Amino acid sequence: VADLAGRQVTVAGLGVSGLPAARALRGLGASVTVVNGSDGEPQRAQAAELEPLGITVRLGDGATLPDGTELIVTTPGWKPTSPLFLAAAEAGVPIWGDVELAWRLRGEDAPPWLAVTGTNGKTTTVRMLAAILEAAGLRTAAVGNIGVSLLDIVLGDEPYDVLAVELSSYQLHWAPSLRAHSGAVLNLAPDHLDWHGSMAAYAADKGRIYEGNQVACVYNVADPATEDLVRAADVEEGCRAIGFTLGTPGPSQLGVVEDILVDRAFVTDRQKQAQELAEVSDVNPPAPHNIANALAAAALARAYGVPPTAVRDGLRAFRPDPHRVEHVADVGGVAYVDDSKATNTHAAEASLGAYEHIVWIAGGLAKGATFDELVLTAAKRLRGVVLIGADRALIREALARHAADVPVVDLDRTDTGAMAAAVREAARLARPGDTVLMAPACASMDMFTNYNKRGDAFAAAVHDLASGRVPDD
Ligand code: ADP
Repeated sequence: VADLAGRQVTVAGLGVSGLPAARALRGLGASVTVVNGSDGEPQRAQAAELEPLGITVRLGDGATLPDGTELIVTTPGWKPTSPLFLAAAEAGVPIWGDVELAWRLRGEDAPPWLAVTGTNGKTTTVRMLAAILEAAGLRTAAVGNIGVSLLDIVLGDEPYDVLAVELSSYQLHWAPSLRAHSGAVLNLAPDHLDWHGSMAAYAADKGRIYEGNQVACVYNVADPATEDLVRAADVEEGCRAIGFTLGTPGPSQLGVVEDILVDRAFVTDRQKQAQELAEVSDVNPPAPHNIANALAAAALARAYGVPPTAVRDGLRAFRPDPHRVEHVADVGGVAYVDDSKATNTHAAEASLGAYEHIVWIAGGLAKGATFDELVLTAAKRLRGVVLIGADRALIREALARHAADVPVVDLDRTDTGAMAAAVREAARLARPGDTVLMAPACASMDMFTNYNKRGDAFAAAVHDLASGRVPDD
C-alpha cells in the first residue's frame, strides 16, 4: 500500500473524480493542492467544500506545476498533452489517474478486479457481470467509470469478494501498475481521438487492461484488433486468451449455437464439448451487440469460477440502463427509440443496424470522427434524417456523398429546444411501421450537460407529440 502521508500531491481537476481524490489524499495525510483552469461559480463552490479540510485550491491556472509537487493525481478530462503534465514530465514527477491511486491504496486482502473496457458496451457488460456474480452469491459491485468511485470502494469498509470494474481509455492511460484478475476489451472503433492523439495510441491505452492479467484475457473474435492487444500484453503464466463470438465457438471461446450461449473455454465436465450457459432470449434486449456483451460478461464470470446456472440467472435479472436503445413510446404507429448513449459512430451503427426503416436524429460533437462508413452502412435503411448540433455539417456532407436520395432536414440549431423541433420534423418524415431513432453518433455537450439530459429532452418531446401538445421553442 502506497504511503502518501506528508507527501506533496497535486490533484489536476475538481468534479466527480477530483473531489473524492483530494479528500482521500488529505485523509491519508498528504499535503494536497487542487488546480483547475476554470474559475467559475461551480469551481468556487467546490473549492469552498475542500478548503476547510486543509486542502489548497488554485483556480484559474491549470498549467503551472505547484512548487514542491511530488505526485500528480489527475482526473480524466485532462489530456496527456496538458502543459501541467509536460512540466511534470520535465520535473520527473509521476502522474497517476484515479484508478492508479485506488489500485495502489487497496489493502492486502483486497478483492480481485474483473475489468472491462472497449469503445462501446462497457457499462452494459459491467452491469451484466455484476448481476451474474450476484446470482452466484458473491459480494460484488459494479464500479469505476460507471459512476462509482473506485477510491470510495477501496477505502470503504464494505467487504467484497470480487469487483466488476468499468475502465475508460483515459483511466487505463494513467494506470500503469494495474493488474486485473481478468480483463476484456469488447471492441475497438475510433473515439476520443482528440484526447489520445491517434487510433494507435487509443488502442494501446485500451490494451493496458490485459497487462499482468492472472487468469483470462477476453477478446472479441469479430474484432481482431482486440486479439492483437492480447498478444502484445505481458501476462501472468497460465493466463489464457479467451474469445467471444456470435457464431459457433472454437476451443477457448464462448459463442452461440442454435440460440444457446455456450462456453467451450471453461468446460469442467470431461464428457462435454461445450457447456450451455443461457438462451439468447435471456439477454435483455437480445440484439446482436448485446449478446456479444453478455458473452463477454459470461467469459469474465466463468474465468472467476462462476457456475453456468449463475450466468443464466444473472442475465435474466439484468435490466438495461436508460438511454441505451430505450423504447420511449409508439405514436401514430411509429416507434420512438432513445439511444442517446450512442455518442460515437460505432454505437450508432449497432442501433441503426437493428431497425428496417429509420428516421434518424443525429448530430452533436463529433470528437474528430468521420461519418462516411456509418452513413454507407445505414443508407438503405434511412427514411429520412434530422440533423442538430455543432458538427452536423460533417454528417450532412457524408449523407450527400453516400445517400443523396435520403431527405435531410438540417435544423441548423444547437439550443436545447432543438430536440423538440427535431422530433416534430422526424414525425413528419416517418410512416407507420417506421422507427424514429435518436442515435446521434456524437457527444452531447454542445447542447446538453450530458447524454442523460439529451435523452430526457427527446423523451419529453415524444410525450408532447403523443399528447398533441406543441411546446414553445
Ligand atoms: P459504454 O459504457 O462503453 O459507453 P454502454 O453500455 O453504455 O457502453 O452503451 C453505449 C452505447 O453503445 C449505446 O448506444 C449502446 O446501445 C451501444 N452498444 C452497447 N454495446 C455495444 C456493442 N457491443 N457494440 C456496439 N455498440 C454497443
